[in-house]
Amino acid sequence: MAALAGIPGDDELGLGPNERRRIGTAAAFAREVLAPGAAQWEAARALPREVVSLAAEAGLGGLLAPVEVGGGGIGVVAMARVMEELARVDLAFAFVLVVHNNLVGAIARRGADHQRAALLGPMIAGERLGAFLLTEPTGGSDAAALRTTAAPDHDGRGWQLDGDKSWITNAAHADVLAVYAQTDAYAGWRGIAAFLVEADRPGVVRTDPYAMLGAHAMGAGGFGFRAVRLGEDDLFVPVGHGFRAAMEGIDAARAVVAAMCSAMLADALERAVAHTRRRAAFAQTVADFQGVQWMLADVATDLVAARRLAYDAAQAVQHGAPGASVAAAHAKKFATRVALDGIAQCMAVMGADGLRQDHPLARHFAAAKVASYLDGATEIQNVVIARSLFRDRPEAQAAEA
Ligand SMILES: Cc1cc2nc3c(=O)[nH]c(=O)nc-3n(C[C@H](O)[C@H](O)[C@H](O)COP(=O)(O)OP(=O)(O)OC[C@H]3O[C@@H](n4cnc5c(N)ncnc54)[C@H](O)[C@@H]3O)c2cc1C
Repeated sequence: MAALAGIPGDDELGLGPNERRRIGTAAAFAREVLAPGAAQWEAARALPREVVSLAAEAGLGGLLAPVEVGGGGIGVVAMARVMEELARVDLAFAFVLVVHNNLVGAIARRGADHQRAALLGPMIAGERLGAFLLTEPTGGSDAAALRTTAAPDHDGRGWQLDGDKSWITNAAHADVLAVYAQTDAYAGWRGIAAFLVEADRPGVVRTDPYAMLGAHAMGAGGFGFRAVRLGEDDLFVPVGHGFRAAMEGIDAARAVVAAMCSAMLADALERAVAHTRRRAAFAQTVADFQGVQWMLADVATDLVAARRLAYDAAQAVQHGAPGASVAAAHAKKFATRVALDGIAQCMAVMGADGLRQDHPLARHFAAAKVASYLDGATEIQNVVIARSLFRDRPEAQAAEA
């Protein structure tokens, strides 16, 4: 959007040629595959599995894995740009790829040799889809309070997995499940480990995806684990490190979701500007009313701010800057909030046409609401921000010492 001075361009973001190529690929994929399909998938409340394969064939299946293993080798900032291109058309599909790519990246980084050998190739190629299973029916915000158990066998050679997971993106199609479980009822976060479990293993039960407000392409649903036998080979993150590992990529994910919400807002604003210029009322165009112009001017200000915060956070996370977690929390809280408000304003200036499903604003609106829960609800972002206000202050540190 040329009119929006202040939005960082790719030159400002310090992206390399490989990263720019992937962003171009994402933009073409959004145009050629997502734009013709997204509304239909939402109406059907299901994403055809082959769309994931097409995305992986285009090179979007292993973005965070190193080039040496066939991945994209891109950083957090470029990941945000790639997902921004996709989310501008369909946030739900973009999030399918966020979750899959994050897991592929984690397996490349911390997986055992046999796990890397077995999984990276098929996952990068899109033959196998990943999911991240932390949230449970009893709660998602208090991520350390897991009730899913992995009980060690008496001979110390394996585990038995029991419990339920809910609100899992890609539940509809996932093949590789990263399951976080408690190994010791008395150990709290120190007892959490993670396992890589095939979705077709005996005892794994996939529940039907949820009917939600929107964003059905995410295929969000649940899994049950009924006396699932696990071997030592299935251990992904050792006991004691599971909680930290689950939180490891969360700052990056929050910055990426912030960029994705900015993308939906940018699309809504462009469509609202175009519509109000065409539409007439009281012998002038709707765009001629100063009240309408000012509404959209406020949306534009929020958009510039949201995108700035998103990319400041992505840069901070990528460079491991102190305060990156707080930057990501600010970015995610602000972007989801202004996307929800701003898309509603854009719909309002379009009159009743704003409600119609032959343009994507209603889909964006629902997706912005859904996004406010992803990678921690808005209140949890405030917990992170408030902690920095109070705990990081010298007088608070002195009091705690
Ligand atoms: C479409 C979708 C896809 C998802 N995908 C995944 C996934 O792939 N993997 C996964 O593991 N999870 C996933 N989630 C779960 C998501 O991370 C949780 O919904 C989120 O963490 C909130 O948990 P909850 O819904 O259980 O809310 P609860 O934890 O029950 O919280 C209820 C309310 O209380 C508030 N609250 C909780 N604690 C505090 C506090 N300390 N201070 C103030 N307010 C508080 C919350 O913000 C919320 O508003 C997904 C969620 C959705 C909606």
